[in-house]
Amino acid sequence: MASCESLYDVLGVSNNVSPEEMKKRYHERLLKYSPDKLGHGADKEEIEKATQLYLKLQEAWKILNDPEKKRRYDAELAAKSLRYESPSENAVDVSEMDYDSDEDVYFYHCRCGGDFEFRGPSVPTDITCNTCSLSLCVTANRGNGNT
Ligand SMILES: [Zn+2]
Repeated sequence: MASCESLYDVLGVSNNVSPEEMKKRYHERLLKYSPDKLGHGADKEEIEKATQLYLKLQEAWKILNDPEKKRRYDAELAAKSLRYESPSENAVDVSEMDYDSDEDVYFYHCRCGGDFEFRGPSVPTDITCNTCSLSLCVTANRGNGNT
């Protein structure tokens, strides 16, 4: 699982959501993302993607619906956000990264002095610094509607 997407994001709720509201959202999303909904016209890739989402949704629910697991997950999440000084430090848009067009490699300087880097054209969601263990969430809001 990409570290930049929390289980709450998967369910589309905030982390102070009430159990009732969370349940409602979960069921809404289950219906929406059910691979059965794709019908016969869907290609393999679409089905694969829907199935992944569907499983992720169920996984998130399993944890968040269990008070003990949820408590542990919340603690983990809090510890993770403490590791970053500001939210912008663990998320960056690809347009803010340095780009080497000869190599087709994107760079972003880590505060440890190392670099986050990846090779284009596909944008990963999560990259790790080449010297320390920080990870960076890469977003791709480049204005090209990704459909
Ligand atoms: Zn680093």
